[in-house]
Amino acid sequence: MAWRDAIALMDELAEGILLVVDEQGILQRTVTDGDLRRAVLAPAPEHATLAELPAVAPVTVGEAAGIEDVRRLMEAHRILHVPVVDGAGRPVDLVHSRELASRIWLSSPHLGEEEAAFVEDAFRSNWIAPLGPHVDGFEREVAARVGVGHAAALSSGTAAIHLALLLLGVKPGDTVFCSSLTFVGSCNPVLYCGARPVFIDSEPGSWNMSPAALERAFDWAKKEGRLPRCVILVNLYGQSADMDALLPLCERHGVPVLEDAAESLGATYKGRASGAFGRIGVYSFNGNKIITTSGGGMLVADDADLVARARKLATQAREPAAHYEHVEAGFNYRMSNVLAGIGRGQLRVLDERVAQRRRVFARYRQALADLPQLQWMPEPEGSHSTRWLTCLTLAGAQANRRRDLVLKALERHSIEARPVWKPMHLQPLFRGAPYFPHQEGRDVAASLFDAGVCLPSGSNLTDGQIDEVIGRLRRALSFAEEQCASS
Ligand SMILES: *Cc1c(COP(=O)(O)O)cnc(C)c1O
Repeated sequence: MAWRDAIALMDELAEGILLVVDEQGILQRTVTDGDLRRAVLAPAPEHATLAELPAVAPVTVGEAAGIEDVRRLMEAHRILHVPVVDGAGRPVDLVHSRELASRIWLSSPHLGEEEAAFVEDAFRSNWIAPLGPHVDGFEREVAARVGVGHAAALSSGTAAIHLALLLLGVKPGDTVFCSSLTFVGSCNPVLYCGARPVFIDSEPGSWNMSPAALERAFDWAKKEGRLPRCVILVNLYGQSADMDALLPLCERHGVPVLEDAAESLGATYKGRASGAFGRIGVYSFNGNKIITTSGGGMLVADDADLVARARKLATQAREPAAHYEHVEAGFNYRMSNVLAGIGRGQLRVLDERVAQRRRVFARYRQALADLPQLQWMPEPEGSHSTRWLTCLTLAGAQANRRRDLVLKALERHSIEARPVWKPMHLQPLFRGAPYFPHQEGRDVAASLFDAGVCLPSGSNLTDGQIDEVIGRLRRALSFAEEQCASS
């Protein structure tokens, strides 16, 4: 190819690099802007062709390489592009240095305008200690926002679940039912209590707890003569579980519900706030959640005594006496006044964050609507999801293998996508725990895990970043499909 044609092609592709391959499609060399500039300066440039460029072996990585391998090569060779080649040396992908410099996160913190003012106020008034006016304010504001009587601000969502279990009377040797498809923070506290989890599958319609599986679990527990002390109902990825089907089952057996709404603050179910359905509800303000205090949690309940007891247990179970009297073991689980200040600022932009996350989801779905193999997490009638994470499953054969290839390809371009949570009943930590699938022989949570992908979903993603993910995902999918078809 003549250098003039090469320049035209370079301009057209706008990748800053050309890959030269032989008849077998095997990469021979790369041609950069710099190579072409040098060719122009050579004698008789109008006759020059790419073949006359000095031979240089291309710097490449294999398909198994990760982003750190690419970064090392770019630094060592001072190059801006690294082609990815298959086992035969054919290029299958190209990584740009600018991608390494601007990672696209799964879900990163997004501050509003007022957080700094609240924190400044905490400094000015010297309320840096745990507790203080912002803690009280944050509790009041969260309770009002979700329409529950009372709230206790805590150091994490996990701490809130731990206290909730204690408040519901969970003791060593008790059993606790819990959704299997969730983050381990939902059920680690069951172990802190010395209790034993029993895991319940998801239903395909909401990805949340399957009423059919819960019913069978209750039948089993009743036969065994040991009903669970409580049911931990998780609202996954910003969406409420099907409360109308699940709550009556728990009520019928007189078992209280602990609603893990760590991922669903801002969502509603039939018009009511997610997290307001259980005897106790729990939110998280960890850095990746829809609003954050960097780390924190909230326990909510209509029962004022329960919440007062949560606050007491969270402050070393101190009795009301000046000399620090203690009757029972407590914890250091309170939220600090500084972090509560951040939370108050964040709460003011919650509606905006929900709208932004839903917009991210809508942009993905619309742009990728022509790909029937992408099945988006459903949003049932009556459920208003925050789309905290945009989640989908890959339909068709070898979904798990394609998912891994897709995630790997995205990661190489510095795009943080993840598998769906690995279900708790498949975790070595909970080996041997009883598990109730959606139907006999049909494990919904395991299939969602096999084929599921969470895409970057932060409310601060730019349209350009979302479009970048969309483009990369398209290429990664067709590459993964070719790979699976050819073997
Ligand atoms: C994040 C999360 C938790 C734990 O919250 P932390 O504040 O991180 O302790 C619990 N359950 C679910 C479903 C979560 O996503």
